[in-house]
Amino acid sequence: QAKASGRNTVCFFDQAMQHTVDERAALESSLRDAIHQQQLALHYQPQVNAQGKVLGAEALLRWQHPEKGPISPGLFIPLAEKSTLIIQLGNWVLETACRQLVSWSHAPESAGLTLAVNVSARQFHQPDFVQQVLDIVEQTGADPRRLKLELTESMLLNHVQQTILKMVALKAHGISFSLDDFGTGYSSLAYLKRLPLDQLKIDQSFVRDLQQAGHDTDTDIVRTILALAQTLALDVIAEGVETDAQQATLARLGCHHYQGYLFGRPLPTEQFNQALSQKSAQTITA
Ligand code: C2E
Ligand code: MG
Ligand code: MG
Ligand code: MG
Repeated sequence: QAKASGRNTVCFFDQAMQHTVDERAALESSLRDAIHQQQLALHYQPQVNAQGKVLGAEALLRWQHPEKGPISPGLFIPLAEKSTLIIQLGNWVLETACRQLVSWSHAPESAGLTLAVNVSARQFHQPDFVQQVLDIVEQTGADPRRLKLELTESMLLNHVQQTILKMVALKAHGISFSLDDFGTGYSSLAYLKRLPLDQLKIDQSFVRDLQQAGHDTDTDIVRTILALAQTLALDVIAEGVETDAQQATLARLGCHHYQGYLFGRPLPTEQFNQALSQKSAQTITA
């Protein structure tokens, strides 16, 4: 009896696993088509200063599946990272972002904006990553000083020397670097000091539970990150800012750059541009 049910269980799991494998393979193949069939888009979320002025945006990838509808990047990015598909996807994102920068450069209210682009580990660790980025920048005519690459802690832990060389090569062209989801990884101080970063991005998990006053752990973590950033002379931005209370606490602690629903959701190009010109019109008449 036990043996029989054990066998059934194994069989059940095999089927379930096979199902997931099939589903993943299907999703991967439709993601491959997505690049050519214009199902991908970048949305842009504003990054603001203490006065609420938009300094730039983060580009966030969106996939509109023909049958399944919108699929979260939290789901398809990790899938793409399992294969070389992430390279094509990453290059598409970089090229689209650079074209956006060029288009922004033509309008006075957007000419000074920076654009942050997420880079995946596999993409960054390509031997010719630096050349790929430089080629895209050159071909599109984007100003590299407006381009910011977002890296994550985990992807920098290995091959530190290679990582530094790549960053230095790109920084020589004016490209800057932000460390995304900061505080969720394992960076040591000694290690952070060696990386030629420009910005730390406080992870939204710490921002979420910030209290207006009080001495909760998250307040202490944010305070520690800010002290660290000051020591390393890095700029700091908080992500996932949703409430006035969170912004007020961040400001009190000394964080003056923000990104989050409080200031704007990620929007398609046209809507982002529209919100931007409305905002700048308000500032002019104010
Ligand atoms: P991330 O880079 O940390 O991006 C921030 C995520 O938080 C985005 O989710 C954004 O929509 C969301 N967010 C922004 N403000 C708020 C807020 O106030 N509250 C809450 N709850 N969420 C907020 P999204 O767009 O679903 O992207 C998820 C992750 O997928 C990104 O995290 C990034 O790691 C990855 N990703 C997105 N686009 C790309 C891309 O083009 N390339 C790569 N390699 N990864 C990407
Ligand atoms: Mg990011
Ligand atoms: Mg993040
Ligand atoms: Mg994240």
